[in-house]
Amino acid sequence: MRNDYRNTIYCPELKGIKERKKAVEDMIKTDHSRARDMHNYLSPNDGKYKGEFIKAYNGKCSYCGVSNDIVSKTFFEIDHFFYKESFSSKAEAGEMDNLVLACHTCNHRKGAFEIPREDADKLHPDGDGIIGCFERDEKYYIHISDGNEDDVVKLFYEKLGLGDELRRLDYLLMSIYGLQHQLHSIEGMAEAYEKVGQMAELLRKKRNMV
Ligand SMILES: [Zn+2]
Repeated sequence: MRNDYRNTIYCPELKGIKERKKAVEDMIKTDHSRARDMHNYLSPNDGKYKGEFIKAYNGKCSYCGVSNDIVSKTFFEIDHFFYKESFSSKAEAGEMDNLVLACHTCNHRKGAFEIPREDADKLHPDGDGIIGCFERDEKYYIHISDGNEDDVVKLFYEKLGLGDELRRLDYLLMSIYGLQHQLHSIEGMAEAYEKVGQMAELLRKKRNMV
């Protein structure tokens, strides 16, 4: 399988996402037996389900990969992968398969962009297709992979601004945080852990001011 452009070497692979989402849905249905539109239950920042949904996605935006080391829980949103107005009911749009974790930047930019149903396998972030569409180069830029430059993929890439500098900065920051977490478990690295942490924190603050 290709490298996942959303992951640094420190990020675990996103495995069993459908089962993990199903577990969150079961949790909601145990508490609310009549629940239908899952979006209603997942969205509130003060509810317990959003945190579980974020955990199901390894704490990362399913489109760009930015992690909860960088953006806070409130900056993660629950996106309707297929535009919600394209469904016959709110409940149908709010089915678990159509809900994905997105950072505010990705969700806002994607907006009402309508992804054709036939392109679901290619772009739905719960599947492997999206990993084949995009790649990360050695300078941390996200590109469209060779042979995948069709109109929908291009439009998706441009709409979400996956090629932006912000994505590079986020990747650098995730790499620094990954290194820091690793240092934490190595004996004699307490000072390095502290210093790397300070540097990451400074960068993160600047990033979130932009
Ligand atoms: Zn994102």
